[in-house]
Amino acid sequence: MQYVSTRNKNQKCSAAQAIAQGLAADGGLLTPEVLPKLSSNGLATMTDMSYQQRAVYVMNAYLDDFTASELSSFASRAYGQDKFDEKDVAPVRRVDENTYCLELWHGPTCAFKDMALQMLPHLLSASLVKNEEQKTVCILVATSGDTGKAALEGFKDVNKTRILVFYPKDGVSDIQQLQMQTQEGDNVGVCAVVGNFDDAQTGVKRLFSDAALRDTLAGRGFFFSSANSINWGRILPQIVYYISAYCDLLKEGRIQKGDPINVCVPTGNFGNILSAYYAKEMGVPIRKLICASNRNNVLTDFIQTGVYDRNRSFYNTMSPSMDILISSNLERMLFEFTERDDEAVKTYMEELSANGRYEVSEKVKKQLGRHFAAGCCDDAQTQARIAQMWKDHHYLIDTHTAVAFHVLDQYRAETGDETPAVVVSTASPFKFCDSVLGALGATELVQGTGILDQLTALTGEPVPAPLAALKDKAVRFDQVTEKEHMADRVLEMLK
Ligand SMILES: *Cc1c(COP(=O)(O)O)cnc(C)c1O
Repeated sequence: MQYVSTRNKNQKCSAAQAIAQGLAADGGLLTPEVLPKLSSNGLATMTDMSYQQRAVYVMNAYLDDFTASELSSFASRAYGQDKFDEKDVAPVRRVDENTYCLELWHGPTCAFKDMALQMLPHLLSASLVKNEEQKTVCILVATSGDTGKAALEGFKDVNKTRILVFYPKDGVSDIQQLQMQTQEGDNVGVCAVVGNFDDAQTGVKRLFSDAALRDTLAGRGFFFSSANSINWGRILPQIVYYISAYCDLLKEGRIQKGDPINVCVPTGNFGNILSAYYAKEMGVPIRKLICASNRNNVLTDFIQTGVYDRNRSFYNTMSPSMDILISSNLERMLFEFTERDDEAVKTYMEELSANGRYEVSEKVKKQLGRHFAAGCCDDAQTQARIAQMWKDHHYLIDTHTAVAFHVLDQYRAETGDETPAVVVSTASPFKFCDSVLGALGATELVQGTGILDQLTALTGEPVPAPLAALKDKAVRFDQVTEKEHMADRVLEMLK
C-alpha cells in the first residue's frame, strides 16, 4: 500500500518512507492511499488473540513493506510485561451497565502516548534499514509534558537514533519535569526552554526549517525527523486499541456481534480520536465519536458549526495535554470528509495559516455531524467529576479522563443516546496528583515526589512503579536555554 499527501494525492511513497519522513514535502500529512477493511470474520478472529497479536493483525493491513514476523517481534518488544504493568496492555474496565473505560496508561510513562511511542521506534529503525538510510536520525520533540517523556522512553538506546526533547520551563508538572530530567539512555538529550509551550514548539519548528543547521548536521551524519502525532507511525498503533476494546467487550459478552458502541475521547491534537475514526472505517461498529475538550474548545465549536477559528484566548487548564488551539491531525479528517479533495484541504490549511480560520463546505459539515458529537468542560467540572467518580464507583481517574466522562454525560443528557460507550482514559491519575488531590478535598499538598504517596494515603491506590522509581533517580539534565539559543544546544548534543 502506498501513502499519499493530504495536500497532493499524486505525491506517493511507501510506508517505510512515510514513517521515516514524518511529514510530506508539501507540508501535508501522509495517509494510506486506501483504508483497508476488516474481513467479515476479522473481529471474531481477533477476539481470541492477545493484544500483541491483534496489533500485528491490524498493522499488517497497512504496512505491506513489513513482514508479519517483523511486526510480531516489534509487538512483543513494545507491549511486553517489562514495559506494561497489565498483561492485557489496554484493559477495558466496566464502570456501569453501559459505560466502560479503556485504560491506556499502563505503559512505562503512565500516559496513552506509550501505546504509539513504544511501537514507533521499532517501525522507524526498520524503515531506515529498508530505505538504506546511511545517516543517524535525530528526533526533535517539543513537549507540553507527556509526549516528551514517552518519546524518550521509546527511543532510548535505539540504534541509529538520537532524541532531543525541549520542554517549557514553567509549563509542565513537577512529576513530568522529574520524569524527563532523570531520563536514562546514551542517545538522549533534554533541555528546558524559558517560556511557554508555544515558545518551545515554535523554536523546534524553526530548527526543522534552519537550512544552515541542517547542512552542518548532515556533515556530521545526522538528519531530523519527528515523533509528533503527525507521523503515521503514531496513528497506526492507536487504531489497534479501539479494535481490541470492541473484541474485549464481545469476549466478555457485554455486546453481541454487530452491536454499535460510542467512544468518547479526551482530545488535543486529534490523533487519538482520528485513530478511532479509522477503526470505524475498517469495520468496527462505532456509532458516534464523541470529541471531548477542556476550556480550549476550538474543536467543540468546529464540530458543531463547521467553522474552525483559532482566534481566541488560550487557557492553561488542569488537563494540559489538551491545551491546544491547532489540532494538526484534523487535516487527515478533512481529507476523508472532502472525499480526498486535496485542493480543498490545501485551501483550508492555507486559510488557517493566513487568517487562523476556515469554514468547511456543507458536504463536510454533514459528514462531521454524521460521525461526530462534541462537548467541553471547565476545570471546576473536571474536579467535580473526579470526586464523583471516586464517590460513586471508587474509580480514580485523571483530569483528562474526567473531561471525557463529563462530556459523555452531557451528550447522553442532550440526545438520550444510551448506546454502550467506551470512555478513553489517557493518563494515570498519579501523573496529575495535585489536581486530583485537590478534587478529592486535600488542601495542603506535599512537595516533590512525596505527593505520590499523599494520593496513595488518601485513596489506597498504589503508585505506578515507574513513578515510584523517580524518588531514587539522579537528575541528569537540568540545562535551561533561551529560545534564541536552541540551535546551539542541538549542536552541542549532536557532536
Ligand atoms: C496527548 C494527550 C491527549 C490528547 O491526545 P491527542 O491525540 O493529541 O488528541 C489527551 N490526554 C493525555 C493525557 C495526553 O497525553
